[in-house]
Amino acid sequence: MIRLEGPEATERLGTRLARSLRPGDVVALYGDLGAGKTTFARGVLYGLGFEGDVASPTFPIVLPYDDLTLPIWHVDLYRIDDTQELEELALDEALDGGALLIEWPERMGDLLWRHALRLSLARDGEGARALTAELPPAWETRWPPR
Ligand code: ADP
Ligand code: MG
Repeated sequence: MIRLEGPEATERLGTRLARSLRPGDVVALYGDLGAGKTTFARGVLYGLGFEGDVASPTFPIVLPYDDLTLPIWHVDLYRIDDTQELEELALDEALDGGALLIEWPERMGDLLWRHALRLSLARDGEGARALTAELPPAWETRWPPR
């Protein structure tokens, strides 16, 4: 478990993770509304050289960042309720040369890639969050990010 004291700590951890992201990676961000998923994704995008505002991709569901050192699709599946809609998003196309950051990955059910890094954010007392990671083999040497 990693305790994150304030939004800057969440963002910084995302920025550190960005350095070890590779094409084909999937980062699944679990946690309730307001847990800090978008804040973490913002940190990753800043770590890859993005300098603008990072919006929450609730609508549209997919926000592509194609001009980065590693192209990223930032996805929020909160409003997805069947696998038909999921197929239309063609998320696997992002993995051909890029990586995925997915909020509400539980909406994918069994379709979530086995090699996804699973990060869960939860409130931890006043103004802090606790982050826990579930590591597939592809991430064992890359977590925690330095
Ligand atoms: P989500 O995408 O999970 O709904 P957001 O990333 O939009 O959540 O964050 C919700 C709120 O939580 C924001 O105000 C953000 O600044 C705050 N936040 C993020 N990380 C932390 C943290 N470690 N401690 C306290 N507040 C945080
Ligand atoms: Mg969000």
